[in-house]
Amino acid sequence: MSAFIERPSEESLPADNDGLTLRISGVIDESVVDGPGMRYVLFVQGCPHRCPGCHNPQTHDFEGGTLITVEDALAKIRATLDNDPLIDGMTISGGEPMSQAVALVPIAREAKSRNLDLMIYSGYTYEQLREMAQTDESIGYLLDNADKLVDGPFLMAERDLTLEFRGSRNQRYIDLVKTRKTGEVTPFVSDKWDIPL
Ligand code: SF4
Repeated sequence: MSAFIERPSEESLPADNDGLTLRISGVIDESVVDGPGMRYVLFVQGCPHRCPGCHNPQTHDFEGGTLITVEDALAKIRATLDNDPLIDGMTISGGEPMSQAVALVPIAREAKSRNLDLMIYSGYTYEQLREMAQTDESIGYLLDNADKLVDGPFLMAERDLTLEFRGSRNQRYIDLVKTRKTGEVTPFVSDKWDIPL
C-alpha cells in the first residue's frame, strides 16, 4: 500500500451551515464502552450491510431514526462538550457512518478542533473505504482525520466477546494515525500497562 494520501482541500468540503441533514439513531453524552476514555457517541441511522446478529438492528432502516440538521447536531454537541470536561473522545457508530459521510465532515471537524480522539465504526473494510475515498472526498476526510477505525461487518461465525470494542474477529481496531504514517494498516495497541495481579 502506498503511504501517499491525497487530501481534499478544505474549500471543497461541506461547511457547518451548508444546510446538510443527518439521520441519527441516537446519542450518548458519556460512554466508556464505545472506545477508550470518556466519549461522546453519535449513532447514525441507516446501514446497508444488515449483518445477521447485529446488535443494533434498529439502526438499519434508512428511513428510521431522527432527521436533524447538521447545524442542530453541532449545537447539541457543542452544548454537551462545553459543559463536560470529562469527555476526551468522540465515537461515530451506527448504522453505517460512511453512508452519511458528507454530513459527518463538519462533526468530525468539530471533534478535531477540540482535540478529541475521534473513533469511527464502519461495516466496510479499511481497504474498501480507501477505494471509496477515490470518488468520495468526505470519506477521505473522515479517514484522514479520525484517530481510530473499527472496520468490517459483524460476522456471527467470528463472534468473540473478549475483543476490545468490537464483536467479531474479522473486525480490526485500527490505529489510523500510525496507518497514515506508515502506509500499512496498523492495529491500535493500548499504551496502558497491564499490571499482573
Ligand atoms: S455494519 Fe454494524 S450496524 Fe451495520 S449491520 Fe453490520 S454490525 Fe450492524
